[in-house]
Amino acid sequence: MEVHHLLHKVLAKLQDIFTKTKNNVVRMDMATFQDIGSTLNQAYEQEIRICNTKASKKNEMEQDIKDIKATLSNFVSVTTKTWAQVAAAQPKPKPEPPLECQVACSQRSKREITLSIRAVEDNDKVAITKMNNQQLTNHLNQVANCDLIIAARKTAKQTIKICCDTEDHADKLCNAPWSSYIPGMNIVEPSYSVVVYSVSKLNVNPEKEDTVAQAKEEIETTNLKKFSIRKITPLQKRQRNPDAPTQSIIIQLNSLEQANECMTGGIFIGHKLHYAVRYMPQYRLKQCYKCYGYGHIAEECTKNARCGRCGQEHPTVECETDKPVCLHCKSEQPAWHHDCPAREHEIARLKALKDEQGAYFST
Ligand SMILES: [Zn+2]
Ligand SMILES: [Zn+2]
Ligand SMILES: [Zn+2]
Repeated sequence: MEVHHLLHKVLAKLQDIFTKTKNNVVRMDMATFQDIGSTLNQAYEQEIRICNTKASKKNEMEQDIKDIKATLSNFVSVTTKTWAQVAAAQPKPKPEPPLECQVACSQRSKREITLSIRAVEDNDKVAITKMNNQQLTNHLNQVANCDLIIAARKTAKQTIKICCDTEDHADKLCNAPWSSYIPGMNIVEPSYSVVVYSVSKLNVNPEKEDTVAQAKEEIETTNLKKFSIRKITPLQKRQRNPDAPTQSIIIQLNSLEQANECMTGGIFIGHKLHYAVRYMPQYRLKQCYKCYGYGHIAEECTKNARCGRCGQEHPTVECETDKPVCLHCKSEQPAWHHDCPAREHEIARLKALKDEQGAYFST
């Protein structure tokens, strides 16, 4: 019943009581009193609901909720909370982003821009590959007809990082027409990636590439267009159990704020609210399968091969001993055993680096 109907009902009751007044004394039985009370209560709750809806852009919200409901009705779940249940629950106070998220830090990143040479023509690409970083710095200043680039360096991912003296200079270079200086060269916009664990494959399945675009759109709609998603990729290229109903995904977002919002406020995928964590692949545990050292992989290894089984100086495949010996701690286990102090030390080192970076993205 609408608010004005409820109020009318109450007024009618009061009018009725008034007409039965004797000697200036109002009398009513308990049932009538309770009825009036509960009707007023209903009207009050109704009014609050309307206020809330108005406050959050009523029409837009209603349309979005309709869309979401339509999407949700396609999914059946018994074990997980539905969108409606989560939405109906009292909103949790948002945790305040930590200090490092609020204060502008990392002066360097503001003065640094990234160029991609992936699409650069072969001749130019070869020329760039042959240059050392000093020659590259001079070359880029020359083609851009400026002297704003303090240092340029090549990275492994076909990109060039350029460092400037000030943010202003970096801005200028960011807006420079790089593809007219060197055809195919372009600025790499920074992106912000988060990991979402245990996402149902019914909602997102990056293995089926043709469905990803649709999943992306659905997630954007479900979250009331709060996020604009650039890319969704699986966290693990090959899943340990391909038949698992869920998998973890990496969501690449357009802005730092959106990425942080995914972590503090969560992101709806399908009918479920997920909390994302910052994607920091550089701090993943790596063990080399050539020398069995930690912190690098075999493709980058510059050391001699060591045996992962006995620790001697021969490749593991050539090992003939039955008794394993860890080359790190000398215990009777292969070099990849999980309770190795060297492994634990590496995990702690990576954790410290990760903690230093902070859980949130900062400007
Ligand atoms: Zn190695
Ligand atoms: Zn061996
Ligand atoms: Zn060990």
